[in-house]
Amino acid sequence: MPLIVCIVLGRFITRQLLAATASEIAYEDYTQSATVHPAKASFRAPAAPSTSQPVQNGVKTPNPAAASASKAFPTPQIGAALPLTFTPTDSTVLIVGANRLAATRAFAFLEAGAKVLLVSAQDISRAHEEIQHRVAEGQVQHVQKSIDGQEEWKTFLDEQAVSLVCVTDTIIGAADQRARSAAETIFDVCKEKRIPINISDHPRLSTYSFPSVHRFAGASGPSHLQVAVSTNGQGCRLSSRLKREIVTRLPPSVGAAVDNVGHLRVRARAKSPNRTVSEDDPDTPLNNPVTQLDTPSILSGASRQLGLGDETGDEQLRRMRWVHQMSEYYSFEALARMTEGEMESALRTWEDGSAALTKSLPQHDGEVGEVQKQGRIFLIGSGPGHPGLLTLAAHHVLRSATLILSDKLVPSEILALIPPTTELHIAKKFPGNNEGAQNELMIQAIEGARRGETVVRLKQGDPFVYGRGGEEVLYFRENGFESTVIPGVTSAIAGPEMVGIPVTQRGVSEGFVLCTGVGRAGKSVNLPGYIKPRTLVVLMGVARIGNIVSTLVDLDSTGRDGAAYPPHLPIAVVERASSPDQRVIVSTLANIEEAVKSVEERPPGMMLIGWAVLALEGKGRVDVLDKGVDGEEEIVSQWMGSDRWRIREGLDQGWGEYLAGLGV
Ligand code: SAH
Repeated sequence: MPLIVCIVLGRFITRQLLAATASEIAYEDYTQSATVHPAKASFRAPAAPSTSQPVQNGVKTPNPAAASASKAFPTPQIGAALPLTFTPTDSTVLIVGANRLAATRAFAFLEAGAKVLLVSAQDISRAHEEIQHRVAEGQVQHVQKSIDGQEEWKTFLDEQAVSLVCVTDTIIGAADQRARSAAETIFDVCKEKRIPINISDHPRLSTYSFPSVHRFAGASGPSHLQVAVSTNGQGCRLSSRLKREIVTRLPPSVGAAVDNVGHLRVRARAKSPNRTVSEDDPDTPLNNPVTQLDTPSILSGASRQLGLGDETGDEQLRRMRWVHQMSEYYSFEALARMTEGEMESALRTWEDGSAALTKSLPQHDGEVGEVQKQGRIFLIGSGPGHPGLLTLAAHHVLRSATLILSDKLVPSEILALIPPTTELHIAKKFPGNNEGAQNELMIQAIEGARRGETVVRLKQGDPFVYGRGGEEVLYFRENGFESTVIPGVTSAIAGPEMVGIPVTQRGVSEGFVLCTGVGRAGKSVNLPGYIKPRTLVVLMGVARIGNIVSTLVDLDSTGRDGAAYPPHLPIAVVERASSPDQRVIVSTLANIEEAVKSVEERPPGMMLIGWAVLALEGKGRVDVLDKGVDGEEEIVSQWMGSDRWRIREGLDQGWGEYLAGLGV
C-alpha cells in the first residue's frame, strides 16, 4: 500500500499558478508565532464570524482579551472541507452501483489497498466492463442484491463490516437512477452507524467527497506522490482543470523526487529503526519553511538551543532535519536524480561532521556538484525571415543561449537579435558542400553541449519542413542529447500568405500539398498530379522552373503522378517572403518561365500553383470550384487582363510601414 503524500497547495504551487487561480484555492499561509501547548489546548466550537465580537449599534467593538488572542492565532472560518488522506488497507469499502463511475471509484479504492465490495441489483453481465474485468480477476467482490429499507441496509452493512460507503447509481442520467428517497435511506443508516458516505450528485447526503486526484509517475511505475484538488463541491469540472494545470506546472521528475526523499528518510533513521522522529519538528511546523542551515555547526547550535545537546542520541534528529533541509531547498530534479550511493555518501558526510555536504549532492537549481554539468541543445525554427515572425520561445532561447549554430539561410535581421557576446557560427554552405556544412554544425553542437553550453541550432522556417531537423534530432539522441525542438513559422504557408495567397480557401482550394522541386542529391522528384481543388506548394527549385513546369503540363510526362496541369492555371513565384525586398511574380503555367527569366533571381523563392493564387485578388474570386472547365480561361483573363505576368515588389503597406521596425 503506497504511502500517500498529499500536496498541500503550498508555496511552490501558489508561486507557479497564476495569481488569480491561486487566490481561489483554499490555502492559508498563516504563521504561527507561538507554539500551542497541547496541555493548554481545549475544545471550543469556533465562533461564527458575525458573532465573534460584541456588536453595538451595528458597530463591532473589539473585546480587548479576544483582540490580543486573535493577533496570535488565526480565527477558524467555517466552510472549508477537510482534506485528509486515508489508508484503508484491508478495510471493506462498499460501492453501490456498477456503472462507469463505480469502476473509477473501485480503482481508486484498490490503489489505496482497500477491500472493494460492490452491490448492484443487476446481474454482473450488466455491469461496466471494467467492473466485470475486476470481478473476474478477483479484485472486486460483487453481490447481486436489491436492498430495501433501513433494516435491510443495517443488516447488510453489519454483516459485511463495511467501513466506508460510496453510492454511484444516483448519478444524474444513470440508466437505473436511484431515487433520492432511496439514497436518503442509505444516508440515514450510515449516519447512525457513523460510516462515512458519499452519494453521487447529492452533496447534502454525503459526509465526504472525492477530490480530483493525479498520481505522479516515479522512476519506475507510479510514485508515492498524489495531488488532490478539492473545490468543496463547488465545481468538479473546474477542480479537475485546476488539477491538470497544477500537474502540468510541476516538473515530471517530482514523483521520483518524493520517492527519493522517502528513501532518504528511511536511511536517516536506519540506526535505530524503532525510534520515530517526527516529521513536524517543534522548531519548524510543516506549513512553515525550514530555516536554511548550511553548516553542521549551525545545525548543532540549533540542537543545543532546543536543549537536545549534540550527543549521539540526537544524531537521528539531526539527520532527519537534514532531510527536511533537502526537501525544502533542493530542486526536484536534483532530488529525483539522487542515486542510492549518493544518498549514502551524503548521509555519511553529514555524520562525519564534515562541512562538505554541499559537495556531496546535486545542488539546487539543477547545478551538479561532482557530476559534470550537462548542456542542452535547442533546434529552433526562425520563420521565413521577418523578426516579427519569430516565436516568443525562439526569441527567448536566442537571447539566453551560449552557442548558436545557424544555417546560412537565416537572414541578418534575425541574427541581429543575438546578443553580441554570444558565440555564433554560420554554416559554410556553398553548392556541393551542403552535406559537409550540416555535419560540421551537428558535431559542433554535440561538442558544445558536452562542454555544458546551451546550444541553438538555428534553422530557417520550421526545422522539420525540408530543414533536416529530423536527422539532427536522431544524431543528437545517438550522442546522448535529447534536443528540444521549437517550431517555426514555415515559408510554405507564410510565404504565400505574405503576398495575399491563402493555401486553402473555401470555394477554391480544399487542401494543399507540399513538395520539393529538387530531389535528393539534386535529382528530379516525382510531382503530384493535378486536382482542381488543391494547391501545390513547391519549395526549392525556382532555378529549374522550366523543368518543373514542363513536368506538370506535358501530357505524357513521367515525372508526375496523375493528371496533367492546364497551361492556363495560375502560378505565383514568391521570393524572399517577409523581407523588405520580398517579390511575387504571378502568371500562368504557360508564361511563368519567361516571366522569371525576365528578372534577376532573388533567392530564396518558392512556387505556388493552383486557383488559390487569384482567390483574394481585388474583390476576390471564391467561386472557382462552382465553375466548370469551360469557364476557367475566362476567370484567368478577368484576373490578368492583357498582362502575361505581373510583378509586385516589397512588403505590403501594413508590414512595410507599421511593422518594419518591429523590435522583438
Ligand atoms: N524549413 C524551411 C524550408 C527550408 S527549404 C521552412 O519551413 O520554411 C528552403 C526553401 O524554402 C527555399 O528554397 C525556398 O523554396 C523556401 N523558402 C524559405 N524561406 C523563404 C522565403 N522567405 N521566401 C520564399 N521562399 C522561402
